[in-house]
Order: sequence, then C-alpha cells, then structure tokens
Amino acid sequence: MKATRVYEQGAPENVKIEDVPQPEPTSMQVVVKVAAVGLCGHDQSDRNGLTRPHVGIPFTIGHEVAGTVVAVGDKVTGFAIGDRVATKQQTHCGECTNCRIGREIQCEQGRKFNYGGWAEYVALPVPGLLKVPENIDLKDAATIACTVGTTLNALRNVGQVMPGENVLITGAGGGLGLHGMQVAKALGGRAIAVTSSPSKVDQLRAAGADEVVVAQGKDYWEEIVKVTDGGPQVVLDNVGHPDLFSPIFRSLARNARYVFTGQVYRQKIDLYPAFLFGKETQIRGAGPGNMADFADSLQLVSEGKVNSIIDPMALDDVVEANRRLDASSFFGRGVLIP
Ligand SMILES: [Zn+2]
Ligand SMILES: [Zn+2]
Repeated sequence: MKATRVYEQGAPENVKIEDVPQPEPTSMQVVVKVAAVGLCGHDQSDRNGLTRPHVGIPFTIGHEVAGTVVAVGDKVTGFAIGDRVATKQQTHCGECTNCRIGREIQCEQGRKFNYGGWAEYVALPVPGLLKVPENIDLKDAATIACTVGTTLNALRNVGQVMPGENVLITGAGGGLGLHGMQVAKALGGRAIAVTSSPSKVDQLRAAGADEVVVAQGKDYWEEIVKVTDGGPQVVLDNVGHPDLFSPIFRSLARNARYVFTGQVYRQKIDLYPAFLFGKETQIRGAGPGNMADFADSLQLVSEGKVNSIIDPMALDDVVEANRRLDASSFFGRGVLIP
C-alpha cells in the first residue's frame, strides 16, 4: 500500500511517499481503509520537530481518520468488517478508573496521539473508535473528533458557555476556529471571530461569525469591546500567541473564562495577576475531549447543527498540503484523500 514516511523531522519535503506492507491488526485493533485523514496543527508539529513522536523513526503522521474496517483483531467486539468508523485523535486504555467513568483524556496509562493515518490503510486501537452515522460522509467524519470534539469540550465543559454570551475565537479561519464558531452558536452563544488574515473576513461571515475582528496592531481590543458591548464572556484561543493574548485579555468582560486549546509556537504570555482578581477572570486549558464529546460531536453534525468544513487534497500531494499547512492557507481543516 501507499503510505507517507518521515525519516527526519523538518520541512514539507521531508514527507516521503513509499510502498509499504499493509498493517495487520493486533488483538485490540482494527485495520481501516482510509477514506480521509486530517492535516492538523499537531501533525505540523510532528513533522517540523516541535513535538517528538512516541513511535520509532521512520513514522507515518496522521491521527484524524475515517474509513471502512477491513480487518479485525481477535479480541475486538462491537466492530466488524465493512463498518464505517472514525477515530478519536488519541488513544486511551479503556480500562482504568478514569476511562471507566468517561474521563478518557485523563487516562492513567497516559494518552498518546494515534499515528499512521497519512496512508491508504491504518491500524487503529478500538477504544477510540465510533461508528459514523449513515448521513455523514466519511470525508467529513475524519476530522470531527479533533475539530468539533475539542471545541465542544473547551466551550461546553470547560468554558461553560451560556446562551447569549459572546464567545471570541482566535485563529477563526482554521480547523479549530471554524468549528469552534459553530459549536459556540449551537450552545446559544454569539460567535466573535478574530483572524489575522483580512482576506478571510467574508468567508468567516459566510461561515456564521456574528462579528469578525482583524487582529492588527495592539488596539483592536477596543473594537472587541465595541462589538461585544462590553467584552467577551468566553475566549477560545487555539493560537496561544502573546500578540493575541494581551489585547484580548484586556477586552474581557467580568467573570470571563479564557480557554486555551492550542499553541502554534512556544511563546510566553505576559500577565498581571491584578487583572485576574479585579474582574474574577479564569484562565483554563482544555484537552481534546472525551468519548462522550466525540459521540455528541457526531450527533451535532448528523443533525446539521454543525457542519464539518474540510479542504480536501490528494494523498499524492502531501508535500504541497504540508506547505499549505505551514502557510495557514486551508479554510477549515485540510484533509488528505488516498
Ligand atoms: Zn488533530
Ligand atoms: Zn485509561
């Protein structure tokens, strides 16, 4: 089968396409014929070396997979050949106390990103798998756990968005941002998109943003206060950049919840603690969501309350796809189609 391989982390050109044997399932895995696989910020970090893969070199990137089951491990129950499935982005044991009470993201065995998706076939562990509802295209299903699931955890469970609240979303044109906007609205909030790309303003409005603020200079906090009539109650920050944090933090309403879900580069933020207690602001972090969030995310898409917004490319064009990932030029989540 055709699969991508990275022998040395680095530039987009470091992702090679090779002919390799099709994987066999271990006892608690299924092998999936990949219909689509996402191109995520974490994949970018795996490729450029910001994160260290927990598997050996060479390795195959890709953790956002949907496809059809073609082989089943000998201890697998609940899945059969021919099932349409999608996976959560990280593995969990399924047996420890946290897994048994539905807190899979705090699995006591530690959670690890899936690998191997940028290929024609991939072996996936069963604990993170769900069947895809009939009315969701597998191409749309691939990224739902990572995009909708993560933002549902961040906004519903951690940010506790209430109807009518202003939810500000950074990196709004990206995969987490576009889906976070829709999740914010599904929870009854107003979606305030912040983007550094003026060229994305019209697309963001068309995608449902109630307001769009272009992050340029340091004074755009005043515009945020104006369009939210006093500042946002919840922030979904999936960029984690100091040039965004400082102006947005300044704009916050009282009792606001500032939720980090991602950081593209490792940079520190400046913070005066006085601003935290003065307005009783919370700064929280949100992980990738539990299985219940994944199931609810599939349901939201199946019911048409959230659309999976993907930007597909052929697996053969994986190098160009990585260049586009580096240039942030995907609208929504880029996906590779084998
Ligand atoms: Zn992802
Ligand atoms: Zn566990």
